[in-house]
Amino acid sequence: MMRNLGASILGEPGAMQRRAMAKAITLLESTRADHRAQADALLTGLLPYSGKSLRLGISGVPGVGKSTFIEALGLMLIARGHRVAVLAVDPSSSVSGGSILGDKTRMEHLSMDERAYIRPSPSSGTLGGVAEKTREAMLVCEAAGYDIVIVETVGVGQSETAVAGMTDMYVLLQLPNAGDDLQAIKKGVMELADLVVINKADIDAAAATRAEAQIASSLRLLGLHHRPDHVAHDAQQWHAQVMQLSALKAAGLDRFWDLVMQFKALQQANGRFAAKRQQQALAWMWERIQAGLKHEFSEAPAVRAALNETTERVLTGRLAPSTAARELLATFFRGDQDHA
Ligand code: GDP
Repeated sequence: MMRNLGASILGEPGAMQRRAMAKAITLLESTRADHRAQADALLTGLLPYSGKSLRLGISGVPGVGKSTFIEALGLMLIARGHRVAVLAVDPSSSVSGGSILGDKTRMEHLSMDERAYIRPSPSSGTLGGVAEKTREAMLVCEAAGYDIVIVETVGVGQSETAVAGMTDMYVLLQLPNAGDDLQAIKKGVMELADLVVINKADIDAAAATRAEAQIASSLRLLGLHHRPDHVAHDAQQWHAQVMQLSALKAAGLDRFWDLVMQFKALQQANGRFAAKRQQQALAWMWERIQAGLKHEFSEAPAVRAALNETTERVLTGRLAPSTAARELLATFFRGDQDHA
């Protein structure tokens, strides 16, 4: 069964491939241990055929125009001969039960096109769990020959960091009035951005231009801004840029894609493209190891038995938190040996 699934994913584009991709991703998202084992085998088989896409992360607050933008961009790329996969990381869907991003009516035109593959966010558990499944779905899409993978997230909480950690280039969408409350743009998110896009420039050109100048100057303050006159001296490194566009009018998409291509060329020339992916792969492995250990730890019977009393001693100031942690860890490892 796994072999058929893998072969269909690696095979010709078409209905059979799409079905196989959907099946594979459903398998990855399953919490059943036997499914997980099958999914891991499938991933290992697909891995040599993955990694050949450009991975683009896109974030922005609800309403900024992410789906309008991705649809317009996706249609443009398809017209140029690309195959485009759109995935999402939306941890809110597991909390509220309703997804901010997963709405089926979004990207109506793009989703009807054979050359696009759109998958809503997995809706299970922690951000780490959701991100893991999205990363793995990305590998499936790449193995199926999608050469552009867009990973979308809402501009809330830690999900931006997760998406920046699984993509080659990270794009932050902003509203034209963002200049007014620039403080509201979280510094951390600005630092992640390779490109800031001011959307809805058609509504108020002056406001968009003002926002562009303000964001450019704050990128400069962060030492991240592209300085055209310095390029010759510093051609090795990409500096974050800012531009305006209108997703609704599909205006500015050409320039956007030019910048993406410039970024990719520069990163490949200076070696950062591959190095970043390697770092991301290792960071991810360790993130998952930590998550796995933490889970094992909190589920361990010996730890559970000791936890209430130790917590109480920390709360009442009788035990230093660091000492408590060492004691509980010792309990965990002893408990482990007892079982062995
Ligand atoms: P998302 O929540 O970030 O995915 O935002 P949507 O793509 O759903 O867009 C939210 C609203 O903004 C919709 O009504 C869009 O039609 C509108 N919108 C998106 N991009 C533009 C734009 O460039 N100009 C204008 N005027 N409206 C836009």
